[in-house]
Amino acid sequence: MALHVRGVLLPDDEVRDLWLVGDRVTFTPVPDSETVVDGGFVLPGLVDAHCHIGIARGGAPITSLDQARALAHVDRDAGVLAIRDAGSPYPYPELDDEPDLPRLARAGQHVAPPKRYLRDIGVEVDATDVAAAVAAQARAGNGWVKLVGDWIDRGVGDLAPAWDADTLTAAVRAAHDAGVRAAVHTFSESAVEIMVRAGVDSVEHGTGLSLDLIDEMARQGTALVPTMINIATFGGIAEQARGKFPGYADHMLALRDGFPEVVRAAHEAGVPIYVGTDAGGGIDHGLAAEEMLLLHEQAGMAPIDVLAAASWGARAWLGFPGLVEGGLADLTVYPEDPRSDLRVVRAPSRTILRGRVIR
Ligand SMILES: [Zn+2]
Repeated sequence: MALHVRGVLLPDDEVRDLWLVGDRVTFTPVPDSETVVDGGFVLPGLVDAHCHIGIARGGAPITSLDQARALAHVDRDAGVLAIRDAGSPYPYPELDDEPDLPRLARAGQHVAPPKRYLRDIGVEVDATDVAAAVAAQARAGNGWVKLVGDWIDRGVGDLAPAWDADTLTAAVRAAHDAGVRAAVHTFSESAVEIMVRAGVDSVEHGTGLSLDLIDEMARQGTALVPTMINIATFGGIAEQARGKFPGYADHMLALRDGFPEVVRAAHEAGVPIYVGTDAGGGIDHGLAAEEMLLLHEQAGMAPIDVLAAASWGARAWLGFPGLVEGGLADLTVYPEDPRSDLRVVRAPSRTILRGRVIR
């Protein structure tokens, strides 16, 4: 039976009626439908545009599909109806169309430099093998590859690019040649400069962005997924490393402290920003609402812009059309107006995924 929904659709700001027929949205009335929402504020669900359901809490790769399902359920129950998995050591293409799970945009395994990145997570390759590894991981994912653009170089005692600029640039080209988009992890100033100029599709974290690069991103349409929740953990990372790598520790703290201004400048310059929590090894799933609040409170984004970054804007970016004629039958409902008080997104009163009432 078709489901009938009536409420204030955002961002349009008017009371609308819509119907869910199977996994599709229509605004044409469907007779004999069941009314499942009558009132409240309706979004096409939240999006966590950077998390990892292939990495267990603590940082080890998952070892079963059920573990990925369980992590995705935590996100779903917090109102997240679409996920971009920014790198998984455990392949789970079987879950792409599972009725119970959020929509999945997936990178394959992280492509990382040898012996520098998180243990057991990336496929670790020398410069000569990067392009081939990118092509292979493009096939393992469903539209994205994930590059590790920088990490600590223990020989240098600081963050350093994963490979030389030519190799990093060729990695982006290899992704595009394979027909997928490239997301790059960067913390440092040097790596993000190489990657933005190489035409990467999304910068993950991006703590090292300068105003010049922000302008370049705005011109190119390069997205930023700031993961402010992750950056807030830099203090602990720095203090653990301080004994051996004091320069790295100071660098991480400076990047953390400057980050709210980076995100604010990127938003003001018109860089597309999306909500991502980096849930996975060190961060719990289900925190998309908390990342939204940080974007508002720390980076000064207006609630309507945060809602776009967390919902319809992110869905459009990932290729999951929302509450438009023929769109996908996902929605969350909130009893109060999230534009007046963003905190209401912490607790949806109704969740519908793929045309089925979840709660
Ligand atoms: Zn991540």
